[in-house]
Amino acid sequence: MHEVSIVLSMLDLAEASAREEDASRIDVIHLEIGALAGVVPEALEFAFQGAKVGTMAEHARLDVDYLPAIATCGTCRINFELDNRWGVALCPACGTPSAQLIQGKELQLARLEVA
Ligand SMILES: [Zn+2]
Repeated sequence: MHEVSIVLSMLDLAEASAREEDASRIDVIHLEIGALAGVVPEALEFAFQGAKVGTMAEHARLDVDYLPAIATCGTCRINFELDNRWGVALCPACGTPSAQLIQGKELQLARLEVA
């Protein structure tokens, strides 16, 4: 499952930066995940519950910001939100396909709350 490897690498990163701050535990892990990152929220939460055991984040919770997919049209220069999960961007103003994606594939650790 894709979400398990995401959670494991996020936990690694979170623990490394918590240690840098001399923290003894992680309370909240804030993630930013784009609508097109291919992450299933329930699967992510489930993977986190399992993977956090025995880490500094054992009692932490996940706080995920799901970012909508936004594309920009090269012809009329407007930004618009994609209404599908496949990344097919059709400009609502001029109908040009293959507009450029500017947000939606994020998969990152935004910030940590440690103690
Ligand atoms: Zn357009």
